[in-house]
Amino acid sequence: MNIHEYQGKEIFRSMGVNVPKGNVALTPEEAVEVAKTLDSDVYVVKAQIHAGGRGKAGGVKIAKSVDEVKEYAEELLGKVLVTHQNGPDGTEIKRLLIEEGCDIDSEYYLGFVIDRATNRVTLMGSEEGGTEIEEVAEATPEKIFKEVIDPVVGLLPFQAKRLAFNINIPTASVNKAAKLMLALYDVFMEKDAAIMEINPLVTTGAGEVIALDAKVNFDANALFRNKDVVELRDFDEEDEKEIEASKHDLAYIALEGNIGCMVNGAGLAMATMDTINHFGGKPANFLDVGGGATAEKVTEAFKLILSDKAVEGIFVNIFGGIMKCDVIAEGVVEAVNNVGLEIPLVVRLEGTNVEAGKKILADSGLAITPASTMAEGAQKIIAAVNENK
Ligand code: ADP
Ligand code: MG
Repeated sequence: MNIHEYQGKEIFRSMGVNVPKGNVALTPEEAVEVAKTLDSDVYVVKAQIHAGGRGKAGGVKIAKSVDEVKEYAEELLGKVLVTHQNGPDGTEIKRLLIEEGCDIDSEYYLGFVIDRATNRVTLMGSEEGGTEIEEVAEATPEKIFKEVIDPVVGLLPFQAKRLAFNINIPTASVNKAAKLMLALYDVFMEKDAAIMEINPLVTTGAGEVIALDAKVNFDANALFRNKDVVELRDFDEEDEKEIEASKHDLAYIALEGNIGCMVNGAGLAMATMDTINHFGGKPANFLDVGGGATAEKVTEAFKLILSDKAVEGIFVNIFGGIMKCDVIAEGVVEAVNNVGLEIPLVVRLEGTNVEAGKKILADSGLAITPASTMAEGAQKIIAAVNENK
């Protein structure tokens, strides 16, 4: 789960990470109110959307007066910001962060990630701040430094200092930078973050070290124990169908294609999408109904797939393990009867009670095309969709 920069900075501030003073504003009037509380003559008006690259896209404005803050707020609110991270449709700006301007000396990059090769939280840093870390990794990988963190003892002060030295933070500011890194590590662990990026981390003319940007992503599987984090969720930033899916505990991700997929198990869902692609089709979604898919869940999944107007055919690919094929087949029949279906439906069942399942589908009298293998199913649904064109 992602949050906005201003929310990330509020968490940082509450846990002792140095961030600029500032606050969120939803209207130009609120922007003025926030600016008036800041003891500064330079203000920064920052679009709050769940995507980076706002600076380059014109979503970060430097204002020299409260009047300018109002002008920029009026300009940005309601505007659709397209950055290289959020795709061609962009995102409407509904919130702004108004913060004090910072006298930047140098910009650095800091990131906390979970390295799957070492199974360790890893702190990454670079003196190439402000630019995309992917570009740095590509062009000058020697400028990225890492500290692998032992989960038992956590990030150690000497590691934080070593990283600060490696990325060429001025000697006089190294202790401050190290202190900030240790505080960030506490945030990462306490809130169960999955990724945390501070790009840029800056040193100022006065030798301060400040987190100037905050991109925090939380581990969805740990949200149950971080209620304060769940409250920060911004539904405006999420796909409506994905929100609906999460209510029914379905793992759903909308994609660009026209073949709706209903599958149980994430691995099988990925394989199904690959197989559709392999035979020249395009999946409209990733959908994992889970191991214990009930008739109810299958119905909700059908509704969800059909609510996507781009869907021209559905491929159900279910492995009956925990859930037996006959139960799934009953669920499919019930769902089709419930929802009604005007597009081709191919169902491939495999596993426990598969014959009983196939019989239920065949006896239902519904226009369901059976398939015995994943490849056959993918080919059949692609052919059916193409025939309808
Ligand atoms: P994004 O990563 O989405 O482009 P950032 O928050 O990193 O957004 O801002 C982009 C750039 O704008 C920063 O690299 C920095 O140079 C400048 N900037 C951001 N916030 C401030 C601030 N409070 N004071 C001065 N400059 C800022
Ligand atoms: Mg940034």
